[in-house]
Amino acid sequence: MIMSPARVWRERGSRLRLEGSRCKKCGKMFYPPKPSCPYCSSLETERIELPRKGKVISWTIEYTVPEGYRAEAPLVIALIELDNGVKVLSALTDVEPDKVYDGMEVEAVLRILWVEGAEGLIVYGIKFVPIQ
Ligand SMILES: [Zn+2]
Repeated sequence: MIMSPARVWRERGSRLRLEGSRCKKCGKMFYPPKPSCPYCSSLETERIELPRKGKVISWTIEYTVPEGYRAEAPLVIALIELDNGVKVLSALTDVEPDKVYDGMEVEAVLRILWVEGAEGLIVYGIKFVPIQ
């Protein structure tokens, strides 16, 4: 996945806060934010800030890390249920893959996600870490 500087800039807001969308029609909340509701297809959605804490409900271990990704293999990709019930698919960091368990409490943090190309553009984004 290659992102242009313009795209990184445009998405900066959603990457520094944990943002999702709420559908004004059916009231459902979801992540990542989208202009159309995945539940009822309504285009009336609004950006909301999501709680930064939640728990792991399932996970998978990736032994191949995408090129440029600032992490060591293996990488843990977890499905996390936030405190308000919204589900987020995200990388976990600062945890040994064999220490991850169902119900583990985690919190969103801002970390370097990518370093791009020769110019070394740094892309920040959300990852989750265990709550100690
Ligand atoms: Zn809806």
